[in-house]
Amino acid sequence: MSPDHGISFDGGMNATTVITAAPVAPSTPSGAATLVAARDLTRIWGKGDAAQIGIDGVDLDIRQGELLAIIGPSGSGKSTLGSLVAGIDNPTRGSVVVGGTRIDRMKSDRLAAWRSANVGIVFQDFHLLPTLTAVENVELALEFRDGRSGRRRRRRSRAMAALEQVGMTAHARKLPAQLSGGEQQRVGVARATVTDAPLLVADEPTGALDQANGHAVFDLLRARARAGTTVVVITHDLALAHAADRTVAMLDGRIDTVTHGSTNGAPS
Ligand code: ADP
Ligand code: MG
Repeated sequence: MSPDHGISFDGGMNATTVITAAPVAPSTPSGAATLVAARDLTRIWGKGDAAQIGIDGVDLDIRQGELLAIIGPSGSGKSTLGSLVAGIDNPTRGSVVVGGTRIDRMKSDRLAAWRSANVGIVFQDFHLLPTLTAVENVELALEFRDGRSGRRRRRRSRAMAALEQVGMTAHARKLPAQLSGGEQQRVGVARATVTDAPLLVADEPTGALDQANGHAVFDLLRARARAGTTVVVITHDLALAHAADRTVAMLDGRIDTVTHGSTNGAPS
């Protein structure tokens, strides 16, 4: 999502609307194929005494259709790991294979093209473009992937379908500033899912929301996982992490513990 990366704006508005996720297919059976395989994954900035360790020697497999939570204290490497798995950054050492494609050495142009077709990304601060309506923000993800030429009506109908899945049909023509934080994040989820990418990575997607809206957004992500998308959620909310299929706890750039959660527990 590089064109809007870095644009954030205040989503701290009051939001009380809570929606439930649309019905979806049953859970992917365990034993499903591995979608993400990371080996000795390491990201270090600088050298010697000045070296900043993001993550160091992480080995992690993520199954197709799994809802994986990543938790850990601030600075433990959660976002670094998420960025490497999502193809936002290249590692210093180690490998990442996603859906059979090795992405760790890809140059930024190729990586951006790969990302636009293979990863949906949800940001803590939504990162919606403020001058575009909700539906136009969702369409952008299709434009990044397919280019702007042709099939404009088709993009519009796909974007509207994605908004419908997150309960935002009635708000499609509003600008982000006219939406609550919870509503903006639902648009963020629609943008991340409209391309039907096999991998969804969300870095603190509920961090700017109140509890009810945060849990509603988490339920949308869980619904995607049940429908077969592999979902990686970085979160501080232990109640949400508990509702994931598996929780990886980071500490000082390494995986500290791995916990298997209840596969269908409610987050609240
Ligand atoms: P978390 O998301 O768990 O809070 P991060 O992955 O953002 O942690 O950061 C892990 C460590 O890597 C921290 O010590 C942080 O300062 C460092 N780090 C992250 N990004 C950079 C960067 N671009 N340059 C230098 N150090 C960084
Ligand atoms: Mg972080």
